[in-house]
Amino acid sequence: MPSAAIVTNIQGYSIHDGPGIRTVVFLKGCPLRCKWCANPENLQGYPQIGFISKLCTGCGRCAKTCRFGAIIPGNGQRIDREACTRCGECVETCYYKALIRYGETKTSEEVFAKVRRDKMFYETSGGGVTVSGGEPLTHPEFVAELFSLCHGEQIHTCIETCGCVSEKAMEMVLPQTDLFYFDLKIADPELHQQYTGMDNAQIISNARYLAKNGAKILFRQPLIPGVNDSDANIEGISAFIRSLNRSDLALQLMPYHRMGLSKYAALDQPYELEEIQVMKAEEVETVRKKYEELGVSCTVSK
Ligand code: SF4
Ligand code: SF4
Repeated sequence: MPSAAIVTNIQGYSIHDGPGIRTVVFLKGCPLRCKWCANPENLQGYPQIGFISKLCTGCGRCAKTCRFGAIIPGNGQRIDREACTRCGECVETCYYKALIRYGETKTSEEVFAKVRRDKMFYETSGGGVTVSGGEPLTHPEFVAELFSLCHGEQIHTCIETCGCVSEKAMEMVLPQTDLFYFDLKIADPELHQQYTGMDNAQIISNARYLAKNGAKILFRQPLIPGVNDSDANIEGISAFIRSLNRSDLALQLMPYHRMGLSKYAALDQPYELEEIQVMKAEEVETVRKKYEELGVSCTVSK
């Protein structure tokens, strides 16, 4: 029986989530709660319903469909989150796509059948499949099976991970994973706890485990102004990467953006970093140069 996971999206033709043209599989569930998260629909490990108010015409079909009285008529919040069972029936009745279901259970074989359709593009571009989230390694059996099927057809595999999972999960996927995109967000454990909900002990431990066991890794830092762009953080992350004693290890900066904000609204969730603004390109470049000066090869994601 193949393993299953809750999938929110299978996105083809991505050029930002690993080498070449890739299909990115987004899985639901994450142990961290980073305040800047751009994918809030992937945090909880169960399906959720989003409401996009600007698409709603107020036709009332959803309220007639809902057997649980969970649709609140009128403006403002439209779903009573306490009463909603997340059955998804209202989503099917909305002609205007104002209701969206985040997350469907799919087996590794079902996902593989979708991703292999673009095999020709992977071959011509040096691309492949990337699992993302959320934290994809909340489903390690699923990822190991999917990647095993991919390797059966010489499809390159990549994981985008926050690293905050058990070492057992890392061990399970290591043989089938060609590349780890591994987040290093904040060096100081207390600050890490403050901004992500967990300290970084397990993350550091897993990074050491992967580095020691020869995994191909690109470290990545979401660069959040006023949170982790300080000299102390840059020095802390540099010192950690240098301590791994591998000359091939590099860091990629992912500058803060605000593209996930509409999804917080759709889920009726507050966005805590409302006041933070996007960094200028020259400010990002200053951070990049500091890493280089500290002996860490550093690039900026597009
Ligand atoms: S069915 Fe869709 S468009 Fe009609 S009221 Fe419900 S959410 Fe709005
Ligand atoms: S998901 Fe189900 S319970 Fe929730 S609002 Fe829609 S129809 Fe009602």
